Amino acid sequence: MVKRPPPAAHRENDPTSSQHRCMYHNVTFEKKTWDKIQKSVDSTREFGGNLIFDKTKKLLRIKPYSEVYGAFDNVVIPHAGYEFHTHPAHCKKGICALGIPSTADIIIHLEDANSKTLSHMVFEKAGMWIMIPSVRLRGKSNKKHLDDAFKQVQDMRKLVYAGTNIDRKRKGKDDELRYEWLDAARKAGIHMRFIPKNVNNEAPLFSVPVKC
Ligand SMILES: [Zn+2]
Repeated sequence: MVKRPPPAAHRENDPTSSQHRCMYHNVTFEKKTWDKIQKSVDSTREFGGNLIFDKTKKLLRIKPYSEVYGAFDNVVIPHAGYEFHTHPAHCKKGICALGIPSTADIIIHLEDANSKTLSHMVFEKAGMWIMIPSVRLRGKSNKKHLDDAFKQVQDMRKLVYAGTNIDRKRKGKDDELRYEWLDAARKAGIHMRFIPKNVNNEAPLFSVPVKC
């Protein structure tokens, strides 16, 4: 994923104000949105855009006219409060995308730590990932933590290489990489969660009770 540069106004946001970053108690997706995202995961190209979060109904839905279809390993999405993109479930020319948020995705997330972006979601065949800019990394006083986080994400690349060299068919391999990924992100101070897909493939009910 690559993002269009944000308008200047995004940078003027107060990084310490984070009361809208939480998504408490059984948040879910509007069916039409969920179905469209799932259909896009089941393809060979990335799809992304912005979401609108209705806090009363606790429903997320795609913001009209924000949708963008990209290439196998890339999509350029508009900057917004709630952003998402997909990782294709199908391989192309023998290359298969990993479901986990890429290090490029995480770096963009860190670059947005002090912006208006409240949450970024990545959808893949096994489930969905949510990244929320952590209060540990936001604001002038945490600049050093944020700089350290950038360095730690560079090291996360090694986990991917290790993961791709291991026999992919081995049972539980994807779970292992997922666990290592979440652990590495947590150590870097990033708030990242993985929400597995339901057996019936319906939209999950989830909560993201970040410190806010
Ligand atoms: Zn991505």
